[in-house]
Amino acid sequence: MIEDRRTTRRGDLPPAGARRSRDSAGAVLRAVLDHGPIARSSVARVTRLSAASVTGVVGSLLERGLVREAPEAAGKPGIGRPHVPLDLPADGPAVIGVHIAVPRITVSLLDLRGRIITQVREPHGRTDPASVVTAVAARIAAIRRTHGARRRILGLGVATGGWVDSPHGTIVEHPALGWRDVPIAAALAEATGLPVRADNNSRALLRGELLFGEVAGRARESAVHLFVGNVVDVAFATGGDVHQGPRSASGAVAHLPVEGCREACACGRVGCLQAAVSERVLVRRAMAAGLIDRPEIAALVAAAEGGSAGAVALLRERARLVGRAAALLLDLFDPEVLVVAEAGVNQLPDSLATVRAEIAAWSSAGAEVERVVHPSSFPGTVLAVAGGAVALDQIYASPLEFQVRLHAS
Ligand SMILES: [Zn+2]
Repeated sequence: MIEDRRTTRRGDLPPAGARRSRDSAGAVLRAVLDHGPIARSSVARVTRLSAASVTGVVGSLLERGLVREAPEAAGKPGIGRPHVPLDLPADGPAVIGVHIAVPRITVSLLDLRGRIITQVREPHGRTDPASVVTAVAARIAAIRRTHGARRRILGLGVATGGWVDSPHGTIVEHPALGWRDVPIAAALAEATGLPVRADNNSRALLRGELLFGEVAGRARESAVHLFVGNVVDVAFATGGDVHQGPRSASGAVAHLPVEGCREACACGRVGCLQAAVSERVLVRRAMAAGLIDRPEIAALVAAAEGGSAGAVALLRERARLVGRAAALLLDLFDPEVLVVAEAGVNQLPDSLATVRAEIAAWSSAGAEVERVVHPSSFPGTVLAVAGGAVALDQIYASPLEFQVRLHAS
């Protein structure tokens, strides 16, 4: 499929970044992601690389099938050598994304623009690590049988809640699943033969926002990402770099105390943020009140969309608590962009308005709240995007060496 897009003109380009990228191939590939179809001369301008280095790097990227020449997007032929613009291949290489949640696994296939080619969601059978790895590997094998002939699969990214040590590829602790020190990257690499990288939900989704989110340009200045599902976690980035921390423990806000909350938390205390806003608690309440007939957050959001006042009220209360926590994060980091990935906020104007109002009331954002606070760029597909974004982040960081980097675990 060839996309009908006009070549980016010089005047459309933003000013060249203040910093030069550490990896010139990564900078070129991101320029094509951001602006493709784009001429080599414009790539040189936006990346501040010399024309000669761009030509060299583009040659290597073309060889690996990571970019393609897009003659259909070239302007009318003029005098001299025609400039064939560059674009990402529409049917080109892809990555596998794996998300391990409390109730289910999600396995997806994403193209280089982060678009979902296919995804499967499956409830866990057994939840011990070995059984989950076996189930994930079977799903990946099925996807490769269906799509492997057309799509070269470059790598695999895993995202999950809890504490993930990304450089070592281990899930240090996932209390809700009862996992400790699980070498997930090595296990999936062995089961699939693919290079694997793992990270936690929020850092994974923040990488997606920085690459191809709605406000990616501003988020690359500075951004905070708050993920609220069954697990609650936070990530932040400055200058496009997601902070990991020496223990990979940054962003653990699950046990922030919430005033007036009496829910028991998995940590043994009462009134933690994660216990107050987790999907399980919310869905349990909705079931008890007869608002939904299956224990799923999507059912509650659908009920609210369908006008159920009880469902709207439950999600509004959750949005209020999430907004209070987000206000604290906003003042702590003062980011250009704060993304709140929560099922209600992602899909219901009422929930988004509640979160924004709460943040405006409790933080320095004030009147700027609409500019700063955004829902996820991946409404309804956060779980399918998260894992793939971890792999894509590595490819865009260092496209000619990403296999080495993915294997760094
Ligand atoms: Zn707790």
